[in-house]
Amino acid sequence: MTIYPVDLSSDTQTRPSAAMRQAIAYADVGDEQKREDPTVNRLQEMTAQLCGKEAALFLPTGTMCNLIAHFIHCRAGDEIILDASYHPVNFEGAGPSVHARAAMNCIDSPTGIFTAADVESRVRPKDPHFPTSRLVCVENTVNLRGGRVWPIAAIRDVTDAARKHGLATHLDGARLMNAVVASGVSAAEYCKHFDSAWIDLSKGLGCPVGGVLVGSEEFMEQAWRWKHTFGGAMRQAGIIAAAGVYALANNVERLAEDHAKAKALAEGLAAIDGIAVDVASVESNIVVFDIAGTGIDRKTLLDRVIQQGVRFSGLIQPTELRAVTHLDIPADGVERALAAVRGAIA
Ligand SMILES: *Cc1c(COP(=O)(O)O)cnc(C)c1O
Repeated sequence: MTIYPVDLSSDTQTRPSAAMRQAIAYADVGDEQKREDPTVNRLQEMTAQLCGKEAALFLPTGTMCNLIAHFIHCRAGDEIILDASYHPVNFEGAGPSVHARAAMNCIDSPTGIFTAADVESRVRPKDPHFPTSRLVCVENTVNLRGGRVWPIAAIRDVTDAARKHGLATHLDGARLMNAVVASGVSAAEYCKHFDSAWIDLSKGLGCPVGGVLVGSEEFMEQAWRWKHTFGGAMRQAGIIAAAGVYALANNVERLAEDHAKAKALAEGLAAIDGIAVDVASVESNIVVFDIAGTGIDRKTLLDRVIQQGVRFSGLIQPTELRAVTHLDIPADGVERALAAVRGAIA
């Protein structure tokens, strides 16, 4: 049982449904390291096909998808160009510098959706004084910027700029399927612009664990090797991959419901005195809002709404909060969340 009936702190807070648990219970399994687990193989085939790539690899976390991709693309002394709000900059314990020993050169875009000119401005001249520009990363949707969805034309522009300078390209698609459902652009259409990409299973798709990395056959052979080295190779992993197979078949279209709930929540919050939220910017399942105008501090607000069974998370700015909708938010969850916020600031 969940302690927070309306847990909007993250879409990682989903629990496997009864039907997903059935799929897990009856999964066909084998030794994944020998590539003999039929359910892992099935999940990898499904994801490769979905993303229009030659090959895919099931990994324990999205963080490991980023880590291994950075590691393959970069070597010590290289530099990764990405936005300052992105996950590897903030939430991976300095992963790129620890593992790939690459530096990060951050673009500070208000939306996380940067331009070809931004990329051009970060590419270093070839000179032994400078880090070697190696990789451009895109995050779609942009987590800390309210789940913004990258327009496909913007993706084409920035990846063209990367290729023009001989840089590799990587897509952090933790919420790529949210972008797909919100925009109508297919996963393959997004992924074709990148050398590597991945989707998270444990966010809005509702699985307990896992991410799937996609790319060329050659890239994936290297990824298999680093999966072993970093300790991510598993055995009868079909038990958890079964949740992913189930989710890709059943939990993608329904993301539209989460997006509708996020929009309704943003509209409701915008109507509350002292709360600032850019309703038009809510394009998927994330709402970022600011409570500076309410006169109460964030901790007090968070504590008060929790009394009503409602949970949000704090963002990096001290007056910013984040609400993320997902498949375990009940039908009346938005109303309950709004009532809790009104009560907390009254
Ligand atoms: C959650 C997330 C990750 C990391 O995924 P985990 O499965 O939690 O390791 C990476 N990038 C973004 C944008 C995320 O939201």
